[in-house]
This record gives sequence, C-alpha cells and structure tokens, in this order.
Amino acid sequence: MSTRSKIEISTELLRRLHRIHRQLTDLRSQIDRCPRQIKAGEAMVVKAESDVLAAQSEVKKAKLASDEKQLQLQGRELHIEDLKAKLNMAASNREFSLLNEQIAADDKASSVLSDEILEGLERIDVLESKLAAFQEELQDQQVEHSQRVKEVEAKQVTLRSELARVEAELESSENEVPASIKAEYKRITAAKGEEALAPTDGDSCGGCYQTLTTQVMSTLHLSQLVRCPNCNAFLYLPEDRRV
Ligand SMILES: [Zn+2]
Repeated sequence: MSTRSKIEISTELLRRLHRIHRQLTDLRSQIDRCPRQIKAGEAMVVKAESDVLAAQSEVKKAKLASDEKQLQLQGRELHIEDLKAKLNMAASNREFSLLNEQIAADDKASSVLSDEILEGLERIDVLESKLAAFQEELQDQQVEHSQRVKEVEAKQVTLRSELARVEAELESSENEVPASIKAEYKRITAAKGEEALAPTDGDSCGGCYQTLTTQVMSTLHLSQLVRCPNCNAFLYLPEDRRV
C-alpha cells in the first residue's frame, strides 16, 4: 500500500456500482447475441432450401432417365412392328425363322425395359414424396424463422431500453464517486468493465483470488478505498459482511 491519502468510500456505493456494471455486461452480451440468433435461424432456412433444391434435381434426373427409357421402348416396339411386317413377306423358311428369333429377342429386351421403366416410376414416387417432405420442412422453417425474427427484434427493443435505464443508473451512481478518484475509476472501468470492481471472498480478492493482507482487510473495514495489489480491482466487502 502506498502513502496515498486515505479516501473514504461507501461500501454500499461500491456494491451498487459493481452490480450495475455486471448488469451492463449481461445486457450488452444479450444484445450481442440477438443478431447471432437471427443468423443461426437463417442458416437453418438456407439448409432447408438447399435440401429442396437437391431433392428437386433428383426428381428431375429420375424423370429424364425414365423419359429416355420410354423413348427406347417406343423405338423397340416400332422395330418389332417392322420385323413383324417383314415376317409376312419372308421369302424363305430360313428368313422366317430368323425374323421370329429376332422378334422373340426384341420382345424379351422390351419386357426388361418395361420392368426398368416401372421401377423407375416407383423411384420417382419415392423421390417426389421426399421432395414434398423437404418442401414442408422449408415452409416450417420459414414460418419459425419469421416468428423468431419478430421475437428477437422485440427482445432487442426491451434490452436496449433496459440498457439505457441501467446506463442512467450508472451515471447517477458514479456522481457519488469521490472526485479525487473519479478519473482513475472511469479509466479502469472503461478498460475492464465489471472486472474493475471485486468483492472480497473471505480474505481473498473475489476477482483474482489473491490472498489479501490484514492491512488491506482492515482498510476495507474502515470504508476506505483500497485496490487489489494483484488485479488492481476496487475492493469492497460483500453483502454478508458487516462494515
Ligand atoms: Zn484481485
């Protein structure tokens, strides 16, 4: 402890200042969280949108593949018709049986293709119901998000007016800070916020847990200003300790 002159300061004032600084820290961090809450909601909407787009593109791909197979099938069927017409004009038994074999082979291929087309249509059904689920999810997310934005904005208004009220309370309480230490107090609270003040915790500083000397403790009991020699906080006795 230096030879600095003794400055009387009310323990109640220090407690009140610390409480106000803590409230300010809490209010400011709640206000800071608001835009992040909105951003997090936006991210969920974006994710739901991309799920819808991906599902739409899957449906589109499956439909294109199915259309292509339908065209192949039509081509094959025309070809079979063609072979059947030739069958009637076959010049020899050999040609007739060759054509018949070809028709049988083409019929078989057509039926495989028809099965594939059916499977493809079933797959399209599955993909379309998946898409519908994603679209529903997107709608839910959009509704939830606009609700969330409204809530967060309303909360921000409340928090800002609460902040203004507490800032005014701080200003009026700071008027009670002794003039000789006001500048130093302002400098340290501007730099450290709520950590500029600390209650004692037993015989330790409640800010940095450094053990305090008996001299520091007795100075505190005399309601004189004392700083923690370690973290420089303005020390005060907590509520449960009588001054
Ligand atoms: Zn300390």
